[in-house]
Formats: sequence, structure tokens, C-alpha cells
Amino acid sequence: MNKASTLNKSHQTQHFVIIVAAVAAFGGLLFGFDTGVISGAILFIHDQFHLSPFANGLVVSAVLFGAFLGAAFSGHFSDILGRRKILIITSLIFGISTIGSAIAPTVFWLIFSRIIVGIAIGIASFVTPLYISEIAPQELRGTLVTFNQLLVTVGIVTSYLVDYAFAAQGAWRLMLAFGVIPAICLFLGMLFLPESPRWMIANGQEAIARKTLKSIRAKQNIEDEVSAIKYSLNQQHGNWRMLFQPWVMPAIIVGFGLAIFQQLAGINTLIYYAPTIFKLAGFHQSATAILATLGIGIINVIFTIVSMPLLDRLGRRPLLLIGTIGMAISLAILGLSFKFGGHSAALKWMALGSMILYIPCFAISLGPIMWLMISEIFPLKIRGLASSLSGSINWAFNMIVALTFLSLVHFAGKSGTFFLFSSICILCMFFIYFFVPETKGISLEQIEENLRAGKKSRHIGV
Ligand code: BGC
Repeated sequence: MNKASTLNKSHQTQHFVIIVAAVAAFGGLLFGFDTGVISGAILFIHDQFHLSPFANGLVVSAVLFGAFLGAAFSGHFSDILGRRKILIITSLIFGISTIGSAIAPTVFWLIFSRIIVGIAIGIASFVTPLYISEIAPQELRGTLVTFNQLLVTVGIVTSYLVDYAFAAQGAWRLMLAFGVIPAICLFLGMLFLPESPRWMIANGQEAIARKTLKSIRAKQNIEDEVSAIKYSLNQQHGNWRMLFQPWVMPAIIVGFGLAIFQQLAGINTLIYYAPTIFKLAGFHQSATAILATLGIGIINVIFTIVSMPLLDRLGRRPLLLIGTIGMAISLAILGLSFKFGGHSAALKWMALGSMILYIPCFAISLGPIMWLMISEIFPLKIRGLASSLSGSINWAFNMIVALTFLSLVHFAGKSGTFFLFSSICILCMFFIYFFVPETKGISLEQIEENLRAGKKSRHIGV
């Protein structure tokens, strides 16, 4: 092959991989849209069914509970059925349950359908990054996997806009029904995408895996990659017991630790309760609060885009460290503004400013990198299982923070609550410094080899 045609092939394969990642990332759109849409819809659902505060809480948190279940129990299936098939099945479950929730005649029906929607979201939340990570070339893995987080953030903004568009008519059923669109896109798109070559080799489909690898790699020689995958598979029979083996423990510490810290750092107090926080800070008009919430969503999208090229250039660790320091500082400022601001105008603007600082810091660090790392660090044979467990832990903590935030404000006070989240960010920074590896530019197989060589968490990357 001459130089020009090699270059041409390299561009073609790169375009193809980008398309694969972008289509699969519709899984992220489901995630973002459906966790966001309920904040607006609940006002009208509440009026229609005359919900008690308890029933209100159930409708809002049903998706989070379902996501926890979905992530917890589907890891093994993604190892058995394959990443692609699971995503196709998930989009179907999602489409049907979304319609179910949009036509719900009773509250019980609505809660039940929302739990099923949540199950689909929980599955997509970890299978999408996993699938992209196994398809991506190592030097672009960070950017490509983060398409998923980008569409999560786009999904959140879309849900705010859809809520806003249908609010005048109080059309909560249409708000929820809108979620069918990304489900159809994911379903149709996945029909045309290839299965993960790593999964195929692990499941005796080497010939097709080779063909796929040739279509997604610029270099002609894919033998090194195939033998590295086969070597890691030959090492051991994989089942859930492998999770408890000492050599896997360093990966478990990183995966579970990041999953917990991502939620305890308080992101969803802002994503779910921004209007409440704005009102607490003195922005009393609902319209201003809604507009400010939309602004937060848009900043989240913009800085997720900023993070994408940086992940594979600067690396994961520097971004995580910079991000968590920034989050700790901004939450401390928020706490201080509540403590000393009284009802002054300065309080309002300090609170707004600190939130505007917090979101970019999250968007370049814990936001994308937690989902990225749980798709990279586990050994191939239990990758589905272990990343599903990390995902389910993340959803469980998401639910805990969402359900306890308002009570925490009540008991610990506004400033106490944000000082607490700020201290957690400082702890998280130490956790990252001592435990989290750098996985930029290293192959998934090399990470697995480092684990087998008995390296500690911090050193399983480069
Ligand atoms: C988190 C979600 C959060 C979203 C905000 C995701 O990485 O897992 O809980 O709502 O980022 O962008």
C-alpha cells in the first residue's frame, strides 16, 4: 500500500470509529434526558394525581432506584450476550417503558414504568462506555468514551428545554414521551454497528473480530492486538469469584472509589436542585431560577467538550486533581456565602459564581473520568460484571444524595451542607493522588498485565 492510500485508510477508519462512538453514545442521551426530565414533569404529575410528599418522592426517585437495579444485575449478561446485543435490548426496554410511563393511568403504573425506564438507563450507563472503550484505539480512548458523558449532559439540557416547552400546557405526558426519540436512534444505530472485537475473541468469534478490527484500525497489522487480547483471556477462567482475587483488588478500589466519590462530591444537588439552591440564595423569581438552571446545564455541556481532547493529551490524573481542587474551593465559597452573606445581594452573586466555578471543574474531571475509568481498568473476563457493579454503586449513592439533600440542609444548615460536600472533595483529591492510575495511551491489555504483575492501584496504568 502506498503512502497516500495508507493515509486515506487511516482517515476512513478514524471516521468510522468516531461514528461508532457517537451512535453508541445515544445511550448517554437516554441517561441524561430521563434523569433530568422529571424535575419539570413532577409539578404537573403532582397536581394530576394529588400526590402525597411520599408518593412524590417515589415518582422522582423511581428512575434512580431502577438504574441501580439495572446496573447491578446486568453485568454478567453483558459478558454473556455481548455489549451490542445488550444495548439493542436496552433501547427496546427503554422505548416500551417510556411509552408506558407517558400513558400511565395511575400513580402505581407510573412508578412501575419509571422503575423499568431506570433499569434500561442503569444498563446503558455502563455498557455504552464499555462498548466504546473496547472498540476505540488506545490513543483516542479517553475522547471517544467521553462522547457518552457529552450526550449525558446534552440529554440533561434537552430535558430542561422539553420541560420548558410543554410547561405552559402542563403536558407532562409529552415531556416523558419525548424520551422515545433517543431510544429509537440508539436501536436503529446499534443494528448497524459491529460487536466489540474483544468480546468476540473472548467468545470464540475470532474471524469476525479480526474483520472488525481491520475496519476500525488504521494499521494493517492487527496481530499484536489480537494476540494481546488472547493472551489475557488464556490466563484464567473468569467468573464472579475473580472479583475477590487479590490481584483484581487494586482495580476494584479505583472503580468503586471513583463511583462513590463522583456522587458524594455533590454534583446532583446542583443538577436536581439548582432552582431550590438559587431560591435559598435569594433569587426568588422562578423564571430566573429556571434560566440559571439552564445556564448550569449548558456550562456542563461546554466543559465536557473542553475535556474531550485533554483526556488523551494531559491525561486523566491531572484533570481529576485540578477538577476536585476546584470543586472543593467552589463548594467552600458557597458554604461561606450562606454563612456570612445574610440576605445581601453579594450572597446571591457569590452563590451563583461558586456554582459557575463548580460545574466546569466537575465537567473536566469526575464527570467523564469516572465512567471512562470503570470501562478501562478491569480484566476482560469480568469487565462487564465489575463495571456494572461500579455503575450500580454510583446509582445507589446518586439516590442517597438526592433523597437526603433537603433533610441535610434542614439539619446541618445550608452552609454546613456545602462545607460537608467541600470536605468530601478534599478527601476525594487525596484518594485520587494516592490510588488512581494514569490510563492515557495505554492498552486495556497492558493494564490487565500490570494488575496480574501485582502492581498497586496507582501503578496499574502508565
Ligand atoms: C453523573 C450523573 C450526573 C451527570 C451530570 C454523570 O457523570 O454520573 O450523576 O447527573 O454526570 O453531568
